[in-house]
Amino acid sequence: MTFAKDYKEIYRNQIKKQIRLNQEHLQSLTHLGSQINFEVDPPKFPDEDPARKVFFFDIDNTLYRKSTKVQLLMQRSLSNFFKYELGFDSEEAERLIESYYEEYGLSVKGLIKNRQIDDILQYNTFIDDSLPLQDYLKPDWKLRELLIKLKKKKLGRFDKLWLFTNSYKNHAIRCVRILGIADLFDGITYCHYEKPIEEEFICKPDPKFFEMARLQSGLSSFSNAWFIDDNESNVESALGMGMGHVIHLIEDYQYDSENIITKDHRNRQQFSILKDILEIPLIMGDNAFHHSAIAIKEMEEIEEEGETVNWSKQQINVQSS
Ligand SMILES: [Mg+2]
Repeated sequence: MTFAKDYKEIYRNQIKKQIRLNQEHLQSLTHLGSQINFEVDPPKFPDEDPARKVFFFDIDNTLYRKSTKVQLLMQRSLSNFFKYELGFDSEEAERLIESYYEEYGLSVKGLIKNRQIDDILQYNTFIDDSLPLQDYLKPDWKLRELLIKLKKKKLGRFDKLWLFTNSYKNHAIRCVRILGIADLFDGITYCHYEKPIEEEFICKPDPKFFEMARLQSGLSSFSNAWFIDDNESNVESALGMGMGHVIHLIEDYQYDSENIITKDHRNRQQFSILKDILEIPLIMGDNAFHHSAIAIKEMEEIEEEGETVNWSKQQINVQSS
C-alpha cells in the first residue's frame, strides 16, 4: 500500500512538473501562426448561410502525422494513469485500455461508464495536458501554405476552416499553436471534458456531435462541407451525415503511390483515401486529375445495408506534390 501511495505521489509530481513546462513553452511561442484568431466558446451560434462552405479537420494524427509518435506518447500517458492513479497492474491496465477503446471508441467513455473516475477534466489534464508535445511537433509550413490556399478561390473556396476534435480545447489549441496554423482556423468544436460526469459525454462518431459542429460553424447543409479524419468510425459517420466530401487519412495505406476517390452520384457525395494531408489539392474539383493525372475509371455497384449506392471509383497516381 505504501509503495502504491509513493508511486502515485511521484507520478502526480511528474505530471505537475511537465504541465508547468508545457505552459511555459506555450507562453513563449512567437512564431507565425502561434496565436488563435477565433473565439473559443462564442455565446451563440452564427446564422446559417446556405452558401457557406466549411472544411472540418480532425487534429490528432491528421493535422500532424501519425509517424510523429504523439499517439505512442498518449498511450504511455494513458497507461500510467491507469496504473498509478487508478491502481491497476500493467496487464490489467493494457487490457482495460484496449477493451474501452474497442467498445466506446474513446477510453474516457469507458472510465465514465464504469464510474472509475469522477472528474473528467482532471483525467484530461493528466493525459493530454501533460504530454511534452513540443518535443514531438514543430511548425509545419507546408501545411500552413495548404490551409491558406484552401480559402482561396483557385483551390478550395472554403469560407471556414473548422477544428473538429474529440480532445478538450486545451490540447487542441496547443497542437495548432505549435504547428504554426492556429490563426488560420475560424472556430473549434471540441469535447466537453469539463461537464459533470452525470451529463452525456458526446464525441465523434456520435451524429449529435456532428450536428453540434454544423451549428457552431454556421453550416447550412452537410453537403457543403468537407471532412478529414484518420479514424474509420468517424469517417463512416461523416458519410452517413451526408458530408459533401469525406477524406479518410491513412498514412500507411497499402497502395504505394495511389489514392482513391469514389463518387456516389445519387447523393453527390465523394469519398477519398489519402496518405498525406498535403495531397488534398490532388482531389480538388477540376484540379483533381491534373498533375500526374492518370485516372482509371470503373463503375461499381456497392450493396450497403440493403441500399444500392452507385459509386464510381477513380484511382489517381500521385507523383507530384
Ligand atoms: Mg485523429
